[in-house]
Amino acid sequence: MKSPSLSPETLVAQGLGGIDKVTGAIMPAITLSTNYEQKPDGSYHQERVYARADNPTYEHAERLLATLEGGASCILLSSGMAAANAVFQSLIPGDHVVVARVLYWGVRKWLAEFGLTWGLDIEFVDATDLPAMKAAIRPGATRLVWLETPANPTWEITDLAAVCGLAHAAGARVAVDNTVASPVLTRPLAFGADLVVHSATKYLNGHSDALAGAVVSARDDPFWQRIRSWRRMAGAVPGAFDAWLLQRGMRTLFLRVQRSSETALALARHFEGHPAIHKVRYPGLPSHPGHEIAARQMSGGFGGMLSIRLAGGQSHAMAVLAAVKLFKRATSLGGVESLIEHRLSMEGPSSSVPDDLLRISVGIEAPADLVADLEAALGTD
Ligand SMILES: *Cc1c(COP(=O)(O)O)cnc(C)c1O
Repeated sequence: MKSPSLSPETLVAQGLGGIDKVTGAIMPAITLSTNYEQKPDGSYHQERVYARADNPTYEHAERLLATLEGGASCILLSSGMAAANAVFQSLIPGDHVVVARVLYWGVRKWLAEFGLTWGLDIEFVDATDLPAMKAAIRPGATRLVWLETPANPTWEITDLAAVCGLAHAAGARVAVDNTVASPVLTRPLAFGADLVVHSATKYLNGHSDALAGAVVSARDDPFWQRIRSWRRMAGAVPGAFDAWLLQRGMRTLFLRVQRSSETALALARHFEGHPAIHKVRYPGLPSHPGHEIAARQMSGGFGGMLSIRLAGGQSHAMAVLAAVKLFKRATSLGGVESLIEHRLSMEGPSSSVPDDLLRISVGIEAPADLVADLEAALGTD
């Protein structure tokens, strides 16, 4: 059974080591029931009432992720966006929020379309600029600082310990979208963050076949209870099968993330300085502005995400995208198959992503095959 001396890799590989007490099964059952029997005295068998909040299949994945992130508690939600919503909508109109300027476009778009009408006072700041962050965080007034590191799609690195120090000195909470690093490479709570948010659709599940999100909290406090309550009231829970696929995927999380990170570093090194490429953006390269912080803050790798900017501009980027044979042209990230996309086309006209940028999610294929495919595609114009 679970023991604090075991490493996260061991615990997650064995799904925390539990065995189904009824059947002896190694893998947990999927509970599809939407409701639970009430006993004659009005009590419940295991305090579960209704599946909009209570489901043992969610709870298993939640315990796994809370263990990986070193948190007190975790909730699964229907998607990463639902997880972000749960945090922002647990604030109240008028609350001041400082948000990293570079971040996943869906969160930025939600804040622009709905965060403002919800009444949040949102300030976008360059999270890598500590004096700017210090100036933006208002003591006693800022309720939340929202960070993402490495941040989409240029993989800016935020110094989590430094920003958490600034936020806490001003009485503000810090939430970190840890989708890209995953708890294998970065555990934001260990650097002082209060909340960790995930699109579990990505590395945590890892197989591009389940949509889910999660929020992990460092402690059980009234704000955390409000976030939990938001999930129940908004009904933003995943299906039981998605929650089951998520726990299944998480068992191989370490192997997948380590392999993707190694290959991404190899690709970044191989293609940096390539005549067809203007710039490779990867936190594992010393040329990346966040490299030193990443080397300190990320353990065992720099992640499986990188971006390349083509020397020949947008038309060249589109030609390379059309020419790849092995990389799949698709959005999303964190699956076992390598993906490539023209990020600006995905984000649309409001985006500030350079038009010559291709975003790459590195999977677990043989590195030489990926290098050869990209080399061949770069030769086309
Ligand atoms: C995909 C993603 C999200 C949104 O998650 P969904 O599961 O697609 O709703 C949020 N943050 C990051 C960094 C992501 O990559």
